[in-house]
Amino acid sequence: MSAPALEPPVGIPLLREEPLSRHTYMRVGGPAEYFATPATLDELTDLLGWAHACGLRVRPLGGGSNIVVADEGVRGLVVSLRRACGDTRFEGELVRVGAGVMLPALARAAAEHDLGGLEFAIGIPGCIGGALQSNAGIGDGRSIGQLVEAVDVLDGARRRSVPRADLTFDYRTSSLRGSGLLVLAATLRLTPRARADIEQDMQRLLGARQASQPTAEPNAGSMFRNPPGDFAGRVIEAAGCKGLAVGSARVSPLHANFIVHDGSARASDVAALMALVQERVRAQLGIELVPEVEWWGDEPAPVAFHRAKMTGP
Ligand SMILES: Cc1cc2nc3c(=O)[nH]c(=O)nc-3n(C[C@H](O)[C@H](O)[C@H](O)COP(=O)(O)OP(=O)(O)OC[C@H]3O[C@@H](n4cnc5c(N)ncnc54)[C@H](O)[C@@H]3O)c2cc1C
Repeated sequence: MSAPALEPPVGIPLLREEPLSRHTYMRVGGPAEYFATPATLDELTDLLGWAHACGLRVRPLGGGSNIVVADEGVRGLVVSLRRACGDTRFEGELVRVGAGVMLPALARAAAEHDLGGLEFAIGIPGCIGGALQSNAGIGDGRSIGQLVEAVDVLDGARRRSVPRADLTFDYRTSSLRGSGLLVLAATLRLTPRARADIEQDMQRLLGARQASQPTAEPNAGSMFRNPPGDFAGRVIEAAGCKGLAVGSARVSPLHANFIVHDGSARASDVAALMALVQERVRAQLGIELVPEVEWWGDEPAPVAFHRAKMTGP
């Protein structure tokens, strides 16, 4: 464990060795050396200043729905933005929403304002900050990036607004990913639509998800990006991987691009199963599967993540 040289800011509860399996949808992996949920933006900046002064790596956490945490956990500070960046403000057709607001909650709030555009997000269990990294969206092409007018970020210690023109959004990635910028909030442009129509659309999308995805078991959503012109689920199934298992991690019999478990899997099982799936798909179909989920760990990432090239189809 590293030894911070300075006392943490007074009044901000700081958890030590907090299990990240409690904060992620995959429910595997070890602890964060330090974990905090600051209540305000001022607390957030104080905390980041402390982490910086101590030389701690900072990892922002949204919904924890797109990451697999190493069994050893991660050193440094994991900071949840749910409280400090939890505000939503509607102004006409615009909504300014904090990075820690969950997509389904925002979609419902927009419906209450008779504003459409976020229907696609009703079943995506991520926060705005995380969704902007991966340009979260669904198969029919709708995605969060299409709605963005501006994104407020913390760039080192400086708060600034990045206009739409300076951002790019592609298939499950964006220019924010890997930029080192911490997203604080986004301004989205929505479209007037009758609440009943919005709700009907959302019910249909939720129903389709319920029927095709293993919603009751721990999972991290789609494990792999769709290969060019195809679907990862289809190619994994075609390579005979449905039901394939390592430890208690297995390829979902319902949807082959999901890895599920009974609560007892290790992150190493998940990573080994991903590598096995990649090998079979490569050997049988000549297709290279690239992970969509992100690996959080201090040691070099497992082999399944080595070949990851962040290129779109
Ligand atoms: C059951 C299930 C279904 C899913 N369905 C879909 C789907 O239909 N479409 C889809 O696109 N995705 C889907 N996902 C994946 C996931 O929900 C999305 O990628 C989501 O947008 C990730 O957001 P998050 O807040 O959970 O990010 P996290 O998993 O918390 O974090 C992901 C990355 O974003 C970074 N990050 C988070 N917040 C910030 C911030 N404020 N500033 C800077 N960096 C930040 C983290 O550090 C991390 O690197 C699904 C996942 C699950 C579990």
